[in-house]
Amino acid sequence: MKYTTKALHTKYPKEDTFGALRVPIYQNAAFEYETAQELEDVFTGKVSGHTYSRATNPTIEELESKIKSITSAFGVVATSSGMAAITNTLFALLKSGDNIITTNKLFGHTLSFFQNTLIDFDIEVRYVDINDIEQIKQNIDAKTKVIFFETLSNPELIIPDIKAITALAKEHHIVSIADTTMTPFYIFDSKKHGIDIDILSATKYISGGGTAVGGVIIDNGNFDWSKYQHLEKFYSKFGFNAFIAKLKKQTFRNIGACLSPQNAYMLSLGLETLALRADRTKENTQAVASFLANHPKVKSVNYPTLQGNRYSELSKKYFLFPGAILTFDLTSKEEAYKFMDRLQLVRRCTNIQDNKSLIIAPYHTIYSEYTDEQKRSFGLREGTLRLSVGIEDIEDLLNDLNTALLCD
Ligand SMILES: *Cc1c(COP(=O)(O)O)cnc(C)c1O
Repeated sequence: MKYTTKALHTKYPKEDTFGALRVPIYQNAAFEYETAQELEDVFTGKVSGHTYSRATNPTIEELESKIKSITSAFGVVATSSGMAAITNTLFALLKSGDNIITTNKLFGHTLSFFQNTLIDFDIEVRYVDINDIEQIKQNIDAKTKVIFFETLSNPELIIPDIKAITALAKEHHIVSIADTTMTPFYIFDSKKHGIDIDILSATKYISGGGTAVGGVIIDNGNFDWSKYQHLEKFYSKFGFNAFIAKLKKQTFRNIGACLSPQNAYMLSLGLETLALRADRTKENTQAVASFLANHPKVKSVNYPTLQGNRYSELSKKYFLFPGAILTFDLTSKEEAYKFMDRLQLVRRCTNIQDNKSLIIAPYHTIYSEYTDEQKRSFGLREGTLRLSVGIEDIEDLLNDLNTALLCD
């Protein structure tokens, strides 16, 4: 079966008592049992069941099992946000004294977590040029535990040579972790390309309608946990389930960043139409990129499929298409703001991969806390706009962009 069939027809872990065609929102904190012995058996894992919704819940479990089936992953844990997926994974894998290798071209709060939180726990973060394999290699030592990168960065749209990084990680028994938010599993097969742990913010493409904040941790089953010293205890008890067991029995349960059943329901609904929406945004984004690239008022457009783009080969190699985000430059902040304010359909908003097209000027908003020099190093200028292309009818979308560009 392929993506959408699986998203619709993966069997629930447990049938609903009333035969509801959708798994209901189990909006409850605790689960009761008929006898004391049953309660013990569920607690000790002899019988599978739910006890408390911070640990597991049927609605959340349904979302996890669908993603597991779609991705052929080894294990999936849903979390309260994309950031919770990132922080839980790193806290589960690292101890003080370790180091990780990454880049500073990351989602802002991920970078802030590395710069301001991880270092408080005596974890060294080594920033490299993610497209420079030699530099990555030179930064690996005995204390390196993790390589963390994004499959497609935002807003710069950098694509690393994913296979080269995962091969290097494998050679050194380092866990490769990729944030695939910009290119979720319908667009990019992280398991096939050797990524050990795939993390994504479900808030974006999975939700679609921007209905809920949530995250997902996917253990692809690529890493041999018998070779990961920090998980020795878990490996001896749970074998290849060591990482998921560490999350479920310690890190994730103790940190408590569980997804709410209501949000799990919304995300599960979004998952069913991800492929349809992605196919539509593939066409729309390409059309918008070509339109902008040919417009005299637009200084430059950054989208990996455009001619001359530095990442077009890597994009073809890895992705069904390089996501629904593109950036383009108008001549000044003033021009960019005039354009934004004239848009009738495209909304001024920070989110990405919503069903609606969204626009923002990152230089003056998302990156406003950075120095001008840092902003330039991220490839941003005063007149840069980031557009997240939605699923509108393309004629209407192009018409809106064209009208806003032309009036003076
Ligand atoms: C939004 C985003 C996150 C954080 O996800 P939340 O669900 O907002 O916590 C992480 N990484 C990337 C690439 C994102 O776009």
